[in-house]
Amino acid sequence: MFVISTFETSTGLPELVGFVFIFFLGAMIGSFLNVVIHRVPARESIVFPSSACPKCKSRIKFFDNLPILSWLILGGKCRACKSLISPRYPAVELLTALLFILVFWKIEFNAFLPVALIFVSCVIALVFIDAEEMILPNKITYPLFLFALIVRLISPIFFGVSLFADLYIFPLNNLADYPLWLVSIAGGVLGAAVGGGSLWLVGQIWERLRGIEAMGLGDVKMMFGVGALLGWRLALFSIFLGALTGAIAGIFVIARQKEKDFQTQMPFGVFLGIGSIIALLFGEEIIKWYFKVFF
Ligand SMILES: [Zn+2]
Repeated sequence: MFVISTFETSTGLPELVGFVFIFFLGAMIGSFLNVVIHRVPARESIVFPSSACPKCKSRIKFFDNLPILSWLILGGKCRACKSLISPRYPAVELLTALLFILVFWKIEFNAFLPVALIFVSCVIALVFIDAEEMILPNKITYPLFLFALIVRLISPIFFGVSLFADLYIFPLNNLADYPLWLVSIAGGVLGAAVGGGSLWLVGQIWERLRGIEAMGLGDVKMMFGVGALLGWRLALFSIFLGALTGAIAGIFVIARQKEKDFQTQMPFGVFLGIGSIIALLFGEEIIKWYFKVFF
């Protein structure tokens, strides 16, 4: 059967145009995320000054600042001083572009698309900052939480029908008589409480039992934002996936160590990020499939 996409019906353009556009948008946003990843932990402005070589500080010309391409053309070296530029830069750009493609393919052309793209962009920044600096800056986690609450508040008003599956599921289904925006906000607050709260609780219990801090507050704040947007079920699912992928990665890390150190610090935000993107894109389907198969 030939399926006409929502992009084709609403713009009159072939779907391929949408994919090409979203790829370039993703590469450009990825380029901006590189600046965020580099500067936010260092408490520098993300607007001024323009990008410079980390070694020789020479300003990067706009034609040397094309996402992905410039790094390849320059052979991964600064044009002025020839010092190596980290492959993290093109990697973030390519990853963002590919994730944008995946989001567009999965969510399609609708009101939730920009919301999902902004969410994924925030998560990519958090993942790479946590991987490099072992912190999840408030400058990203707080705006993410605020953004999620605003989306929760306005989406039923702007678009009429709900984009959130959790509004029709326990315990929010008990609020059926209330206006949709109120139910939606309640869902966001509940998601934040379950997402951030459960992590906080696990951290507290661990600290009592072992006497060491296991969970950073950054992880808790990150899950406030993820939970507020995705709702309580997908927040728990994100944490489950984060713990699973984190444990798998931990086994690999310890297996490669000469001196086995089971207290090795892992940037948990990286795995929460991976989990929350999977939850955003495939969570509802996986949960439905799980309950069909096992219950
Ligand atoms: Zn240089």
